[in-house]
Amino acid sequence: VSLKSCSLNSIIEALFPLIQADANASKVCATLNLSELPDLQLDENEIRQLLLNLVRNGIEAMPAGGNLVIRTFLDDSKAVLSVSDQGPGIPSHILDRLGTPFFTTKDTGTGLGLPICYQIAHRHKASIKIDTSDNGTTFFVYFSQTNP
Ligand code: ADP
Ligand code: MG
Repeated sequence: VSLKSCSLNSIIEALFPLIQADANASKVCATLNLSELPDLQLDENEIRQLLLNLVRNGIEAMPAGGNLVIRTFLDDSKAVLSVSDQGPGIPSHILDRLGTPFFTTKDTGTGLGLPICYQIAHRHKASIKIDTSDNGTTFFVYFSQTNP
């Protein structure tokens, strides 16, 4: 990792055309809802990979016409990134296995997307939380970095 002080929102905005192209190819709508954040110590390439993995899972979980929402916000002065889909949710018996490399429920999945996300989050002192129901799933990335 090479951590540099930078804007999480700028990384997301720069990646958004690619995200929209992915979403549109699956007839899904992607929207951004970004709040002002302090700069964070980030590895830009890793954050792109983390975001794309979560976004692709969200897109793959939804039928045509679904909405994918990427948000940033502050929670108790900690920066949070979230990716929400309107897919069917993650069954509880699968939740325990999500960090396990090669665990996939997809015919052509690798099962490597989320394990990589967990590693990247760990290297950024961030934690991933999941909120899932049969109306959809949100992955939250909580950055626990404190201001210098
Ligand atoms: P892959 O996408 O290759 O299957 P991942 O590690 O990205 O591997 O995801 C592992 C599994 O977690 C998926 O196969 C799927 O069962 C489940 N999953 C991940 N994200 C979502 C989501 N947004 N909605 C429903 N299931 C999900
Ligand atoms: Mg995946």
